[in-house]
Order: sequence, then C-alpha cells, then structure tokens
Amino acid sequence: MPDIDIKKILKSYDRKKLVLATVCSHSSLQIFNGAKKEGFKTLGISVGDRKKIYDAFPLGKPDDFLIVDRYTDIIKYTDELVEKNVIIIPHGSFVEYLGAENFLELNIPTFGNRKVLLWESDRKKEKQWLKSAGLTMPKQIKDPKEINKPVIVKYYGAKGGKGFFIAKTYGEFKKRVDKDKPYFIQEFVMGTRYYLHYFYSPIQNNGYKLNSGSLQLLSMDRRDETTIDEVQRLGSIAELEEIGIHPTFVVTGNIPIVLRESLLPQVFRMGEAVVDKSIELFGGVIGSFCLETVVTEDLEFKVFEISARIVAGTNPYVSGSPYSELIQNDLSTGRRIAQEIKYANNKNLLTKVLS
Ligand code: AMP
Repeated sequence: MPDIDIKKILKSYDRKKLVLATVCSHSSLQIFNGAKKEGFKTLGISVGDRKKIYDAFPLGKPDDFLIVDRYTDIIKYTDELVEKNVIIIPHGSFVEYLGAENFLELNIPTFGNRKVLLWESDRKKEKQWLKSAGLTMPKQIKDPKEINKPVIVKYYGAKGGKGFFIAKTYGEFKKRVDKDKPYFIQEFVMGTRYYLHYFYSPIQNNGYKLNSGSLQLLSMDRRDETTIDEVQRLGSIAELEEIGIHPTFVVTGNIPIVLRESLLPQVFRMGEAVVDKSIELFGGVIGSFCLETVVTEDLEFKVFEISARIVAGTNPYVSGSPYSELIQNDLSTGRRIAQEIKYANNKNLLTKVLS
C-alpha cells in the first residue's frame, strides 16, 4: 500500500473549511445529516441522476454534488477535491465502487485507517486478526466430503451474500456448488444474528476505556436477507428445497434490535480485543467497525465477519439508538464520525484519525 503523505496534504487545507464527502449511496444520508449537525459542509459524489432523491430528504442532502460518469473517475478529481478541503468518509459501497486498489491509492485524506482493508478483505488475514484476538469464529470445513452438519458455502468477493448457499450433506454441496468460483465452507451457526456497531476513538477517553483511547457501542441491527428471512411463509426450507427452491442471502434492509443486557460485557470484551489486536497488527482500526455475530443457545458469540467502517446497519438510527441515546441525544454513527473529525481538528490531531 502506498504511503500517502496526509500531513502534507492537510498543511495545504483551510482547516476552518473542511468538507466531509462521500459517495451518494449506502449510509450517505446519515453521514451528511451527521456532518451537518456538527457544522460541516458536505459534498456528495454521485453518478447520473441519483442526486434527485436527496431533494426528498433535505436534512440528508449534501451542500454540493460532484457528478462523475463512473465512480472510478473519482481519482481524476483528486486535485479538485483536495482544493475543496475534502475529507472522505468511506463506506462499503464507496470502497466497492471505487475498487480496493484505487481506494488505497486515493490521495485524499480519508477517515479511518485504510490499512485495515488489507486485513478485512483477505479471509486468511481476517481470520488471523479475529482468532488472535480470542474471538470464536464458525468452524471452517476444508474438505467438502467432511460435511456432516449444516454448512454455508460462501464465494470469495460475493457482495451482500450473493450466491451463498446452505448444504447439509456432501451430495447437496456437489449439486449446488459453482466450482468455477473460489469458495470456502463454514459451519452454519445456529442461533440469532446481531451486527454490533462499535466506534473506536484513539484520541478521546469518553467511552469504555481501552489501553489506548476508548470504545463506544453505538447501535446494533439485524440484516434483512432475501429470501432466507421470509421464505418460511411458503413452507419449511427443507420442503422448499425438495422442489428446487433454495434460500438466498441477499441483503435488502436492516432491522433495529437490542441485546440482552447481560451480554453487553461480552460485547465490549470482543470489541476491546479486536481493537487491541488491530493496533498491534496494523496501527489500529479507527472509527466505526462492525462485528457480525451469531449468538448460540449457550449464549456464546460466534463472529463470522468484521466490517471496518460505517455499515448500513447503522441507518435505522439517524436520530440515535437505544445505546447511543445513553451517550448523547441524537447521536448517529454518521454524527459520531463528524464529531471525531471536529475534535481531532480542534486538538491538532487529524493525522491520528485520517489516513
Ligand atoms: P456474510 O457475507 O459473511 O456477511 O454472510 C451473509 C449472510 O449469511 C449473513 O448476514 C448471515 O445471515 C449468513 N451467515 C454468514 N455466515 C454464517 C454462518 N457461519 N452461520 C450462519 N449464518 C451465516
């Protein structure tokens, strides 16, 4: 990953006129809304006529738009964006649309530690990070012939669970797998899903104290996935599979949720371990991150994924969640990001939260 000289770029910035920018999708309404609440100007980067929908949501509408032909063109506008004192707030679609390599090379100050992408997007490294942090992950099945209980088969790089399928036997696996695409097989963890939205600040001590900085739990959600989450309206999955209808895992939305309070200590212990390990491995996961978990009947968390930036699951909480309301009224993840940048700017610590 190229070393981008953020310090040098920031020196050219008018720090009283910082502009928070992101791609118009994913969690952008929340990001713009949160930035406005903290007094920032905002810029939406958009393709085509997406811009139009922002008229319907004036409080989530950016002050300005940059219209590009395709998202990969953002690179071409680097100088223009730097001239505007832009700080990029990346979200999942930002990274996907721009492409991981372009994102890593983008010469514009970006919220969070971009190095995390190398650990998060590589399954082996992700596993190394989470396992060495002491988290329990679903078992991986190396040889499909060893399938003797429900597994989920995942294709590398598949977005939003596309193409994933469940198999209960080797025979089922063989029938369904697309051998042309690289895949891996994981134990299908039975339990209830919780997607935990954390915020790690390396520079503030206003949350659960860590060795360095502090951690907040801002919210949690459950993803709504089609067709698995509603297919039972038609019959049991086993019945449907018999007639060739297989459930899919495509994310279509997010549902707010809260957790048994007695499980919160575990939630913080996991968050703390993930942050501590990230500091050791690559300088720290900064700002928002999400642990995607299943809680089993033994009340054990199994973590199947980490997303190391704002997730769309924070969108139900534009004006706060049952957790963030206990930190500050009206606090969304989007707003918390803006607060961190504001605090860092005021204390001359921007390089600690940008990369
Ligand atoms: P992912 O792309 O890894 O987030 O997975 C997509 C969806 O598949 C998740 O949101 C879960 O609903 C489901 N899922 C993934 N891994 C597991 C697992 N090991 N056990 C049960 N469900 C899973």
